[in-house]
Amino acid sequence: MNCVFTASPGGPSLAFKTTVIATLRPLIEQITTGEDHHSSSDCILQRLSQKATKEMNGNMPMVTKLSKCIESKQSAACKEEKNSKEAAESNKLVCIEKAYSTILRELGEITEREGLLRTPLRAAKAMQFFTKGYQETVQDILNDAIFDENHDEVVVVKDIDLFSLCEHHLVPFFGKAHIAYIPNKKVVGLSKLARIVEIFSRRLQVQERLTKQIAVAINEALEPLGVVVVIEAAHMCMVMRGVQKMNAKTVTSVMLGVFQSDPKTRKEFLTLTL
Ligand SMILES: [Zn+2]
Repeated sequence: MNCVFTASPGGPSLAFKTTVIATLRPLIEQITTGEDHHSSSDCILQRLSQKATKEMNGNMPMVTKLSKCIESKQSAACKEEKNSKEAAESNKLVCIEKAYSTILRELGEITEREGLLRTPLRAAKAMQFFTKGYQETVQDILNDAIFDENHDEVVVVKDIDLFSLCEHHLVPFFGKAHIAYIPNKKVVGLSKLARIVEIFSRRLQVQERLTKQIAVAINEALEPLGVVVVIEAAHMCMVMRGVQKMNAKTVTSVMLGVFQSDPKTRKEFLTLTL
């Protein structure tokens, strides 16, 4: 709040400033000490602003200074909110890191040995990356990416790489997604289809649900005449454990609209992709 007390050459008289400061001090103290538990900081700032304007008697330079001060207080509040979000995120990271230390110890490892010193932290960060889709929504990425277009032929994007985690074993499954849709006056930037795949695959998943979520998201966003999503993936929980089938691939598909109702359209898609 230093700016309230800054004198400037040719500004208001000392007596005037002293009166202003005396009037505003209780409110300023509420803000700086945060003692007013019943008012939001916005509310206090509004009161401060009103009071300042009243007390200033039209003394513009001081009012300007005060409003600048209020703006900086608001940006400080934003900064504070951002800092508390960052603190919560880093707290989560510490918890996951501790959990990985426990896992390593319970597996019989010596967590103090050189190679493992930073492993829990690295693993925690990697797991947060593998599940970053929880932080993103389809609305966020499709903002401004849907265009009006009189195209009513099938649009196919094939071989979109995907990496996900099986929710039963927390082990990767990965492969390719193929997407097709027939626009109904609305088209989307093609890279956005890959982003939709990314949002849903970077979560704990089963392949069937992943396929459906991608198809439904496209259907809701574009309201196309039809949409089809096919995913072919290898599951490490099948390859590295259990039945240990090295080359087994799981194929899932979801067809909506004309792809579901018209066998000819469905066949056209299958010819284009497989
Ligand atoms: Zn699994």
